[in-house]
Amino acid sequence: MIVMKFGGSSLESPEAIQRVCHIVKERVPQAPLVVVSAHGATTNRLLQAAREARAGRREGMEDLLRQLREYHHELVRDTLSNGRAETALGAVDDHFDKLLEVLRGVAVLGELTPRTLDTVMSFGERISSRLVALALCEQGVAGSAVDARDYMVTDERHTQAQPNLAATYARLVPLRAAIRQGQVPVLGGFIGATEEGVTSTLGRGGSDFSASIIGAGVEADEIQIWTDVDGVLTSDPRVISNVHRLRAISFAEASELAYFGAKVLHPATMLPAMQKGIPVRVLNSRRPHVEGTRIVPDVQPCRNPVKAIACKKGITVVNVHSTRMLMAHGFLRRMFEVFDRFETPVDMVCTSEVSVSLTLDNTDRLVEIVAELERFSTVSAEGAQATVAIVGDSIRYTPGITARALAALGGVNVRMISQGASLLNLSLVVAEDQLHTAMQALHDEFFQDLDPEVFA
Ligand code: ADP
Ligand code: ASP
Ligand code: MG
Repeated sequence: MIVMKFGGSSLESPEAIQRVCHIVKERVPQAPLVVVSAHGATTNRLLQAAREARAGRREGMEDLLRQLREYHHELVRDTLSNGRAETALGAVDDHFDKLLEVLRGVAVLGELTPRTLDTVMSFGERISSRLVALALCEQGVAGSAVDARDYMVTDERHTQAQPNLAATYARLVPLRAAIRQGQVPVLGGFIGATEEGVTSTLGRGGSDFSASIIGAGVEADEIQIWTDVDGVLTSDPRVISNVHRLRAISFAEASELAYFGAKVLHPATMLPAMQKGIPVRVLNSRRPHVEGTRIVPDVQPCRNPVKAIACKKGITVVNVHSTRMLMAHGFLRRMFEVFDRFETPVDMVCTSEVSVSLTLDNTDRLVEIVAELERFSTVSAEGAQATVAIVGDSIRYTPGITARALAALGGVNVRMISQGASLLNLSLVVAEDQLHTAMQALHDEFFQDLDPEVFA
């Protein structure tokens, strides 16, 4: 039994959907279960439509929905033949009619709660799971759409819901029998429902996490994450051009990379798979013959200390200066308590005698946070920064990595530097407009003479 997850870009066009069906068909003897994201950029469009509605711009919202409905109609028309196309068009229209009703409500009220936003965003995967199941049938594969909300049980933290693994695993058991009987269930990733049956989502990019949870629940032999690149690469190919594929990377290294911005995997993906000892593989749906990257429990011996470099833009650095001369006892606790109260995660922290610098990815509550901090400190915040994370398990055993990184960076001004507590990551902060230069310089420094056992 294998779980195969296909991301939005692997399902963005009729040709892409056909490619996916072909890949699944070839693996039917391995008893696949399919997890899909919404087609293409559907989730972004849904989010945009929800924001238009909240702002009371009803026409803008309706325009966006019309375009999105038309996009799905085109996918159906160019993928399915008569009977199935009719069924699919009916399903697409039913979904968009319901969605329009929800968003008209949002426009009237001018209010968009996280709970409503989850309902809106869920439509992408609710539709794609139906279309992909029908497309599989069209290719002679016994695809059957399964509503993931009946299986994925989560808490009520809408837009960032945490799965209840035990409850979800228990519900997934009957699917094993269906797969054994030759069915190919197709579930939407990213979506779930609370114990009370209210629709929830696992956070952006959460379909990878869904695939891992479902794989753990059905006790799959392998979890395959099919995407639009050859596997986990030494860096984001959208930032750097001469990247290399990793043949294998450890669960811990992959999690660290994901957390620090390597979008190829959702940061929580590795956890359920790791707990059940299920191998994960990242593969390219456009080049299915490439062997991809294996994510394995233990670190592979490797001549190169650095495995990959991740980056994240849109970071804000917050500098907090204690108003007393020296950091008084309790200052750090008081400071972090503020971030905690406003539910804002802090990624990197550097301290000196009288000040603390930290980085934030999410600045939704920044104004309130600064106001609170200013009650006992002087605060400055600077946007347009970027974090760079140099990741590799043996960084901790290899002297001179920091010196090499700083020397390679030459003229780039490094704002913060920290060797992560996890010990497998050296992180830096640079201004966003210097990110490309910094990434290229570090990549050139650390990926020259590559261990062929680890890098392709
Ligand atoms: P999907 O739609 O399949 O979920 P995503 O867009 O979420 O795909 O993730 C794939 C993208 O992740 C790639 O196109 C690539 O630009 C980006 N990426 C960032 N860092 C890495 C990395 N180290 N290795 C591979 N891809 C990366
Ligand atoms: N469709 C969702 C998103 O765009 C989930 C995913 O693609 O993983 O965030
Ligand atoms: Mg993704």
